[in-house]
Amino acid sequence: MFKALFEALLGTNRLNSNAFMIAKHIASIVLQEKKGLVEKLYPDFKIKAEQIQQKFPEITIISTLRTFKMQDDLYAQGRTTPGTIVTAAKGGQSYHNYCLAFDFYFTDTHWDSPRARWEKVGVYAESLGCVWGGRFGDLGHVEWHPTFTWQELYPHFKDGN
Ligand SMILES: [Zn+2]
Repeated sequence: MFKALFEALLGTNRLNSNAFMIAKHIASIVLQEKKGLVEKLYPDFKIKAEQIQQKFPEITIISTLRTFKMQDDLYAQGRTTPGTIVTAAKGGQSYHNYCLAFDFYFTDTHWDSPRARWEKVGVYAESLGCVWGGRFGDLGHVEWHPTFTWQELYPHFKDGN
């Protein structure tokens, strides 16, 4: 992502404002060496993730930011590498790539819980303005992008990642 970061820092105006905000946030993760999963989330979304965790202490957040490379490797799983298919998104096509999504499971049962249990968390996330992955078959996924899409961000990040 360095191309986007450097452009943002140099103020070349080639980034739109949403991409600028995300690039700046990713720069802060790198520069401040943020290691915690939740602290890597974009600040406005991090607050929501913390609210969700507070309301449902039985969940564990297991994934937040993924680099494009990590996403590509995950996409390959079940297609060109061993394992089962776990994502439909290639590098740059997931909100995880922009600090705007997290995955969770239940600390006691991991993925083995009835849909109704996931849905309680999902509906609460939706009440905070998030999108719950259960609406498209991904029960343990929450994302937040109130005014833009990954398609808008992708061109700004694709070359430098
Ligand atoms: Zn996810």
